[in-house]
Amino acid sequence: MKALQYRTIGAAPEVVEIPRPEPKPGEVLLKVTAAGVCHSDIAVMSWPEQGFPYRLPLTLGHEGAGTVEALGDGVAGLEIGESVAVYGPWGCGLCVKCAAGEENYCQRARELDINPPGLGAPGAIAEYMIVDDARHLVPLRGLDPVQTVPLTDAGLTPYHAIKKSLPKLVPGSTAVVIGTGGLGHVAVQVLRAMTAARVVALDVSEDKLELARKVGAHEAVLSNADATEKVMELTGGIGAQAVFDFVGAAPTVSTAGAVAAVESDVTIVGIGGGTLPVGFGELAFEVSVKAPYWGSRDELVEVFELARSGVVDVHVETFSLDEAPEAYERLHAGTINGRAVILPNG
Ligand SMILES: [Zn+2]
Ligand SMILES: [Zn+2]
Repeated sequence: MKALQYRTIGAAPEVVEIPRPEPKPGEVLLKVTAAGVCHSDIAVMSWPEQGFPYRLPLTLGHEGAGTVEALGDGVAGLEIGESVAVYGPWGCGLCVKCAAGEENYCQRARELDINPPGLGAPGAIAEYMIVDDARHLVPLRGLDPVQTVPLTDAGLTPYHAIKKSLPKLVPGSTAVVIGTGGLGHVAVQVLRAMTAARVVALDVSEDKLELARKVGAHEAVLSNADATEKVMELTGGIGAQAVFDFVGAAPTVSTAGAVAAVESDVTIVGIGGGTLPVGFGELAFEVSVKAPYWGSRDELVEVFELARSGVVDVHVETFSLDEAPEAYERLHAGTINGRAVILPNG
């Protein structure tokens, strides 16, 4: 089968021919319908050889959807041909975090060498993929796999971040979304669907700000040296009750801290390497700063229900598997508006 692999540190990913995997006992083989292309893969491919956490070659793709092709021994509850999406942050299934559905914070994943598909385990940008346990599949029940696959990360990650800040996003509050690409443009929609907050979107690209407006942002502000002043002006000098930074680079994290109101939440989702100093006088009083990772299994089901109700519409651009390297190039160049989705069997 064909797969997109990251094979050499620092090199571009390549489409290669590899053997089609067979499901071992307990595993599920999916014929991949759709696989999302995420900016975090570009960060991974920029990491140096020293300390690189995964074995190479690595089949990329941590957003996957497919149809059940074959079941390993002992797997029940799934029909052959059933359309499903993959919950990516795999855990052990047995620790207290996994028991609560928070496999993204599994206490034993590192010790047991359990890795998400595309981030250690073979990923979704291939004709077929192995899912280690039926627990990590969510039936799509009529949802379109191409439109839905980005929700497994680009939907789940912002949803998890926003859900934690809901008590602060009361009527009259402001939510700031920094970076309105793959995750950010979904965040705007989740905020509009779940809160009465005024949503202010920040991005360096006019195209992405246009998309942010289209999907429901009340205000769209160019993310530059004047952005802080502009947001403070829009909030009458008070700042935002919740700031979600989907870039996480030094300048955006600094803006996030500067526009945070008293008792607000700053959530740094992007992995751009920026840091925000916390201490008396650094930020407004009682600001909470956190850097979460992905989301829980129950939250993924909730995200799909949100999509089913029609309030989340992911802006998708599709590519064939042969075009997957180009999708990464375009994402790197910042010219994908919304989410790139690969159709490995399209
Ligand atoms: Zn991702
Ligand atoms: Zn666990």
